[in-house]
Amino acid sequence: MGSASEVVAHLRNSFKSGKTLPIEFRIKQLQNLHKMYNEKQDDIVAALHSDLRKCKIESILMEIDMLINDIKNSLQNIYRWARKEYVSKDLANVLDAPYIQRDPYGVVLAIGSWNYPLQLVMLPVQGAIAAGNCVVIKPSEVSEATAKLLTEIIPQYLDQDCYRVYNGGIPETTALLKEKFDYIFYTGNSAVGKIIHEAATKHLTPTTLELGGKSPCYIDKSADLKYSVRRIIWGKCANVGQTCVAPDFILCTKEIQDRFIQVAKTVITEFFGTNPKDSPDYGRIVSDRHFQRILELMKGGKIAFGGDHDASEKYISPTIIIDANENDAILKEEIFGPLLPIVNITDAYDAINYINARDKPLALYIFSKNKKDVDLIMKNTSSGSVCVNDTIMQLTVDTLPFGGVGASGMGGYHGKFSFDTFSHKKSVLYKDLGILGEYLSAPRYPPYTIGKMRYLQFMLAKRHKFFGTGTNYFIAFLTGALSYYLWSIYGIKFIQMN
Ligand code: NAD
Repeated sequence: MGSASEVVAHLRNSFKSGKTLPIEFRIKQLQNLHKMYNEKQDDIVAALHSDLRKCKIESILMEIDMLINDIKNSLQNIYRWARKEYVSKDLANVLDAPYIQRDPYGVVLAIGSWNYPLQLVMLPVQGAIAAGNCVVIKPSEVSEATAKLLTEIIPQYLDQDCYRVYNGGIPETTALLKEKFDYIFYTGNSAVGKIIHEAATKHLTPTTLELGGKSPCYIDKSADLKYSVRRIIWGKCANVGQTCVAPDFILCTKEIQDRFIQVAKTVITEFFGTNPKDSPDYGRIVSDRHFQRILELMKGGKIAFGGDHDASEKYISPTIIIDANENDAILKEEIFGPLLPIVNITDAYDAINYINARDKPLALYIFSKNKKDVDLIMKNTSSGSVCVNDTIMQLTVDTLPFGGVGASGMGGYHGKFSFDTFSHKKSVLYKDLGILGEYLSAPRYPPYTIGKMRYLQFMLAKRHKFFGTGTNYFIAFLTGALSYYLWSIYGIKFIQMN
């Protein structure tokens, strides 16, 4: 594997050589990754099963297909995303070309988390490759089987001079963080997020932090409970609640709570049978540490449904909890497991107060048919994303940026946003060096006069959009002609041409 400094130095030399700059090279690497996901699908599914007992359907839909679709999207759009973006200009620059050029940052570090061990490390990697960077890929050591598989297969498909898997736990990641990267993309908990941010600050390295927290789920009395409960239970039980945007807890009135529990019992049985432990579609907790942590959380409040567990399998059944105290850990810490506490509130205003008294969530779910209430909550709260009348599904829309705000993270990605995240937006003003350009802009030169100032104010003034390029040219021509006229007839010299 080489030491952290050797790996980074190697990639930096490759980046300096310009190898990753041609779009064709990036396309080839993305195509190779696509091939890898197809050819190694069985191995990937087996590794995810070993790490999380993740079922095949969830592995394909929520990890592999998400990556493949992201590659397809990049391949379809990469030339468009990478090309110069010409921007509007003022009269003063009418003959010139201002544009944004997207440059790769250089050598970037992508640190993944264990809950979607393939998707969460490879999705940012794909964005970084598309944008032309060299990448150090750091999978989570907690999902050991997937990390091992990636170490084996990535070198078979990606150029080793530009993309390297670097494995390990805290010591290895700490060593990596001592190196100077040009961008760091981290997914994981916020305590480590702070460590990453601090390490990045030492080198003034920009970062994206994809963190977690408690994502509330508000249910209004107008919501259709039959469908709402299915969508909430699905969101809570996918990957056994080990999803950063899983609904963490319910906010509803006491009356809705009673109905919710009745419907949830039926839905859970419908999804996983009478004993979810036997269901091939119900996963397991990733590690003994997390299993014990979730059991501790279960001690807060009263179990209204579920509560079964088996340490030998790291199994915890879908569990609904009521009457938890505000100081119980289950209402303070991110659950990241199949426990669903219900917090009673009186109305939408009460829900808003509850949400705003805590850290800004990664996701906020609102189940309601009442548009006014939805708007009220939306306008008065801040969260990474909002999904109305469903859970998790906002992630399937890759034209929406995905990321947190405040304690739930900074920056975003998915689709074109990934490309932009890993690109420096370089401002370019390409000036005309001809006589007309010089003539139009020469009044900026000293010695200054009030006449020159008025001229420049006119040229730089912000105008309405309806001054399109043609109109700008026309006005520039008129201005030039007028100033020449004033100059030649009355000797009013705006311009000093020697
Ligand atoms: P984790 O234990 O896999 O840690 C994440 C990464 O941080 C790993 O690669 C690990 O090696 C590294 N790491 C751990 N300790 C470190 C240290 N002291 N110094 C440097 N690096 C270190 O995953 P986790 O943190 O348990 O993940 C769960 C959390 O991540 C939850 O809070 C969840 O909400 C959040 N999450 C967020 C997203 C998102 O997209 N916003 C996605 C998944 C998970």
